[in-house]
Amino acid sequence: MTVRLEDLPLRDDLRGQKPYGAPQEPLAVALNVNENTHPVPADVADDIAESVAKSISGLNRYPDREFVELREAFAEYLGHGIEADQVWAANGSNEVLQHVLQAFGGPGRTAMGFAPTYSMYPLLVRGVGSEWIAGTRGPRFELDPEDAARQVREADPDVVFLCTPNNPTGTALSLDVVEAVYEASRGIVIVDEAYFEFSPDDGASALTLLPGRERLVVSRTMSKAFAFAGARVGYLAADAAVVDALRLVRLPYHLSAITQAAATAALRHSDEMLRTVDEIVVQRDRISATLEALGYDPYPSGSNFVLFGGVDDPHDTWRRLYERGVLVRDVGIPGHLRVSAGTEDETSAFLDALARIGDE
Ligand SMILES: *Cc1c(COP(=O)(O)O)cnc(C)c1O
Repeated sequence: MTVRLEDLPLRDDLRGQKPYGAPQEPLAVALNVNENTHPVPADVADDIAESVAKSISGLNRYPDREFVELREAFAEYLGHGIEADQVWAANGSNEVLQHVLQAFGGPGRTAMGFAPTYSMYPLLVRGVGSEWIAGTRGPRFELDPEDAARQVREADPDVVFLCTPNNPTGTALSLDVVEAVYEASRGIVIVDEAYFEFSPDDGASALTLLPGRERLVVSRTMSKAFAFAGARVGYLAADAAVVDALRLVRLPYHLSAITQAAATAALRHSDEMLRTVDEIVVQRDRISATLEALGYDPYPSGSNFVLFGGVDDPHDTWRRLYERGVLVRDVGIPGHLRVSAGTEDETSAFLDALARIGDE
C-alpha cells in the first residue's frame, strides 16, 4: 500500500500545502520560468570549467565557510560602495530569502508582500512557521507609496517583501515606495531585485538606499540576467549586522567549493555573461508590441517577461501553446498568462503560435 502524506507525522501547518511546481517539460521553446534562454558563452564556459576543475582536488576539505573571494566579487559587481562584509550568498536567492526569514521571521511572526507577487514568498514564509499576509495592489498592479505604507502600518509585519520589477506582473517600483514602506515598518524590508539588470537604465537600485537603513535588504540572483540558473547562486547586500544575523541560521559550509569556484569565475566575466540582456529586452518589447497588435493587454515590464491580460481561457490557451511546443506560465491570475522573452527564434515561435491560435 502506498504511503500518503496524511499517514505521516507531518507538521500540522504543512498539511494540505502544495509544493512549488512550475512544470519542467522537454518542450523546444520553454518560456515559463524567466530563465535567460541563451547558453553560457563558450569561452566563459571554458574558464568556469577550468576554475571548477582546479577546485576538485581540494574537495577532501570543507570549502571556505565565509566564501570570501565570492563575496568580494559580488561587492565589486554591485558597486555603490558596498563592502564584502555587507554581502551574503546562498544556493539561489530563494535560500538567501530563507536565511532572512529564519533569522527575522519564524514561528509566531508575520511576513507580508503585495499580491500578485512571487509565488515562493508564501511558501518560504510558511516553511519557517511564519504567517503570510497578502497586501493588495492597484488595478494595473501598481503600488503607490502612501497606499503601501498604510497597508504595512496596519498589518505591522516582521518582514516585508517588495519585488521590483515584480514577478509575475513586471511592475517596477519607484524608490519612493521602498522609502515609504521602510518608514512605515519596524521589521526587515527585503527588496527583491531578481530582474534588476533588465530594468530601464534610469531605474535606480534600492542599493542606493542602504546607508543608514539597517533593516533594509536588497537581494539579487545569478539565475536570470546572468544566465546561471543551473548553478544556484543568489546574493544580497545589507548592513554588515544583518549578515551577522544570517550566520546564525545558515548551515555550515552551505556554498560548495564547486559553486564558489563557478560563481567567482562567472563574475570575472560579468560583462560577457550579461551581454544578452539588451537583446532579451528587445524581444520583451517586441512581445509587448505584438501582443497588443493581437488584441491582448500586456502590462508594462521592466523584467525579462511579460504578463498579458485579455486571455479568455488561460488554461486552454496554455494547452494549445503547449501542443505547439511552447511552454508559458499560467500564474493563476484569471484572464492572464505570463511569457518569458527568449531568443529571437523562440520569441517568434511563441508569437506565431499565439497568432495561429487566435485565427482558429
Ligand atoms: C526567479 C526569481 C528569483 C530567483 O530565484 P533563485 O533561487 O535565485 O533562482 C528570486 N526572486 C524572484 C522574484 C524571482 O522571480
